[in-house]
Amino acid sequence: MKYKHPRIKPIYPVYQLNKKQFRVGAQLGITTEFDDEEGQFWTLANLLDGVRSFSEVVVGMKLKYPELTFKDIEKGIDFLNEEGLIEETFPRKSVEDRYIANVNYFSRYCKAEDDRFEIQDKINNLNILLLGLGGGGSNIVTLLAGLGPKMIRMVDYDRVESSNLGRQLLYREADVGEKKTAVAKRAINEMNSGIKVEIVDKKIVDVNDVVELTEGIDIVICAIDEPPFIIHRIVNEAIVKVGLPCVFGASQVSRGRVYTVIPQKTGCFDCMNLNFSKNDPKFIEQFVGFRNIQFNPPSIAYGPGIFQLTASIVDELIRVVTGYTEPKSLGTQYEINYEDGNSFTHKTWPRFEDDCPTCGKGDVSQWEIFQYYQEKK
Ligand SMILES: [Zn+2]
Repeated sequence: MKYKHPRIKPIYPVYQLNKKQFRVGAQLGITTEFDDEEGQFWTLANLLDGVRSFSEVVVGMKLKYPELTFKDIEKGIDFLNEEGLIEETFPRKSVEDRYIANVNYFSRYCKAEDDRFEIQDKINNLNILLLGLGGGGSNIVTLLAGLGPKMIRMVDYDRVESSNLGRQLLYREADVGEKKTAVAKRAINEMNSGIKVEIVDKKIVDVNDVVELTEGIDIVICAIDEPPFIIHRIVNEAIVKVGLPCVFGASQVSRGRVYTVIPQKTGCFDCMNLNFSKNDPKFIEQFVGFRNIQFNPPSIAYGPGIFQLTASIVDELIRVVTGYTEPKSLGTQYEINYEDGNSFTHKTWPRFEDDCPTCGKGDVSQWEIFQYYQEKK
């Protein structure tokens, strides 16, 4: 049988507007309204309580509406399922209490044939490489602790400073002077003892530094921003080499950006460089001008802004890994404006299979932009 213990998703209220109309859901955009002259759908919706099996729902409907066939009733449930309102109860499945809300959240995106528990299972089996434990990474790791991946390998070389405490809320006053990796490991162990935590004290300077860290890893998060631009290029080359997806994040003044590279599927960071080289006549001038001044701004990492960015990075990672809903940043920059709360997605850049020196067959010396990525001594 198509359904076992179907129910109206308990995340939605089911209520009558009057005798002939009812609604499932109560918020704009996630509410479905039914015109229900005969009251059949209302009856069906109320029978779909997850306690009754599908057969019992059929029996209940037939008691009240003997003219309905099994097929009619199944079609009625199909219709509700098409509207995204039905899920299987899975009475024998369970998840640790700490993950119940995640499973409920994922249910919004599931249909009766999907298994919301599987999404959380995928997360619980995930091995993540997190590069950087600064403003981005320290808050990312807190969110990850709540989501419960199998393993997090964290990489940083810095010590906690008092100037970090305004936004890197993983760290305490007493941690000042300690290695970020050690403090983060202790904190994550306390938050979620089920997660295996590995720490690596290291400054990433070249592609091999990253490649060496990827063994057993499913996905990478790049939350390091120094040296500016260059580090993303290094991490990009490494993840393309080993074929791992990577979510990159960066904050600039009052905006944050997230982009994701899936090697051989999306354009990579160097494809983005090619895309700008091909389409923006001032790209190289701007890049060179910017590099020439060796711009070294003071940190303006403002906690509430950073939190918006890190939340997007982690959600993006979960989307890429589980597919619970479409990722927003594949081969494009998803930009969050902290100022007005708006976010938007830039135009996707293509993968330049013939031209890209990193993920394609291109020649690095053919493209002027790459010579400016050498670090200034
Ligand atoms: Zn590329």
